[in-house]
Amino acid sequence: MAGEFSFIEKLRQRAEGHASLTLGIGDDCSALQVPDGHELLTSTDLLLENVHFRLDWTNPHDLAHKAVSVNVSDLAAMGGRPLALYLGLGVPRSFGAGQLDLFVDGLFEGLADYAICLAGGDTCRSANGLVLAITVQGHCRIGQRVTRAGGRAGEDLWVSGTLGDSALCLRRLLARQSCSTALMARHFRPRARLALGQALAEEGLATAMLDLSDGLDGDLGHLLRASGVGARVNINQLPLSSDFRAHLARQPELIDLALCGGEDYELLFSANPQKRADLERLSQRMPLPLTCIGQLSAASGLQYLQADGSAYRPTAGAFDHFAD
Ligand code: ADP
Ligand code: MG
Repeated sequence: MAGEFSFIEKLRQRAEGHASLTLGIGDDCSALQVPDGHELLTSTDLLLENVHFRLDWTNPHDLAHKAVSVNVSDLAAMGGRPLALYLGLGVPRSFGAGQLDLFVDGLFEGLADYAICLAGGDTCRSANGLVLAITVQGHCRIGQRVTRAGGRAGEDLWVSGTLGDSALCLRRLLARQSCSTALMARHFRPRARLALGQALAEEGLATAMLDLSDGLDGDLGHLLRASGVGARVNINQLPLSSDFRAHLARQPELIDLALCGGEDYELLFSANPQKRADLERLSQRMPLPLTCIGQLSAASGLQYLQADGSAYRPTAGAFDHFAD
């Protein structure tokens, strides 16, 4: 790609250091130091044009910011503290210099938001579509990471923020309907719940945790399988934004977006019922709503209950890239 090296040089100049990053952009490898008594956390995500995003809908600035957020969200879900981000970038000819500049601005805004540094990457010309392959690394004290496997029967199931806003925004845009700025922000500018994840891990409040990227229904399924438990979720306790409630009042079937819609990037976690008061205090401190939506059970399977106690079945399933 013409200008590849000047592009990398621009990234190098803008990349801020981090006490733990002993060698940054510019050599064959970067070097990181993990604090004594901590372990390194690593997560990778692929974001492909026309699979995960459309450039005619998303501006390059928001796209880059969101790409950082969704990766940092995986660190949040383990209770990690951010260290470094690596950016694999495939740029098609159709993605011009102006768009690339906007992308880089959004990237560094995202990096600054989470105090994570750009420590390396790779840059190529893509034959077809914009390709983003992002790896993030963070650290946590040994013994404090929260996996998906620590949930036990009888524990409460909690979720942060509100559910379904991002999916509702996408649904309305696909149908060429108007969408409030609050819903648009949830879809195009999600925030990783980093401070919450750290507090839940470091204060020993969550027993199992993950971030909601594919929808509550599918992601909770992962937590249940890993923990070897089932769950009952009360539909009427799902945290919903005022915009979501307004749409739901006219179209009750939209509740399935809160259950199965993706890209909430909220944290779902289990906790001992004795921690309820601690979690209420944490919610006020963040400040971020934390809502108990149900309980883990010894009986396997996931059951949704309506206000009258009857069972509910969502019609849509979680998104599966390999589904036919
Ligand atoms: P190599 O040939 O060893 O892969 P490159 O010329 O691809 O080296 O990269 C030079 C330096 O620039 C490396 O430190 C690499 O991590 C960094 N780099 C390349 N592309 C990116 C990118 N998109 N984002 C961040 N750093 C990058
Ligand atoms: Mg390279």
